[in-house]
Amino acid sequence: MNTERAIVISPHIDDAVISIGDTLRKFDNALVLNIFNQSRETITGVNPKRVDAIRRAEDTVITNNYGYDFAYANLPDTSLRGVEWDDFAAPVNYDLLEQARYWIKTQLESQKGDFGLFIPASYGLHPDHYLTTLTFSEGELSYLLDWVPFEIYCEQPYFLVDNGKRHDHQGTNYLRNEGKLIVNTFDVVYKREMLRVYESQLSEQRIQLLAGKNRAEFVWRAKKDFFTKSKER
Ligand SMILES: [Zn+2]
Repeated sequence: MNTERAIVISPHIDDAVISIGDTLRKFDNALVLNIFNQSRETITGVNPKRVDAIRRAEDTVITNNYGYDFAYANLPDTSLRGVEWDDFAAPVNYDLLEQARYWIKTQLESQKGDFGLFIPASYGLHPDHYLTTLTFSEGELSYLLDWVPFEIYCEQPYFLVDNGKRHDHQGTNYLRNEGKLIVNTFDVVYKREMLRVYESQLSEQRIQLLAGKNRAEFVWRAKKDFFTKSKER
């Protein structure tokens, strides 16, 4: 993508870095828009009220070390909505979808210069990722894609644990089957030290999976109708 500034639409805190942390290194600067950042869970089990502050502090370390900026929509993640994290059958929450769509639109409108977008493919079964992808399926954000360069990123670790069936949906199948999948891969270089920053979320074992076994990040170019096709999952 030929643009100075990369804007990553990130369903949760840490999704951007986990999925395309190394890809972002080639941009002069990057802004991560966190959508469902309100959370109550850490792997160390702290007071739920402290979780948001702890996770934002981890983002601040990324800002200081790598220069990525972060903004937060403050929408509740599934743990606060009583939805199982991988409950693919959960009904689409249209109220949340509209809130996410409006916030992203407001953030993008306030940008001064040119930018390109990285949008999640919702590769996996997480309802929050699916809602995030759907924000571009209609309304002003869908029109925006007529003139703003964008690429779709493959979420980790879902891609790594994919068994070929369970962690997939029609949007991704469509990309594959229609031959519209142009894969750009980026070597994992900085990932391990980046992931260590997110110590409230990532165990050593998980870091090994993401930055040991995993040697690449995947970013896809797709046609705009990827998003409308995604609605037909
Ligand atoms: Zn996520």
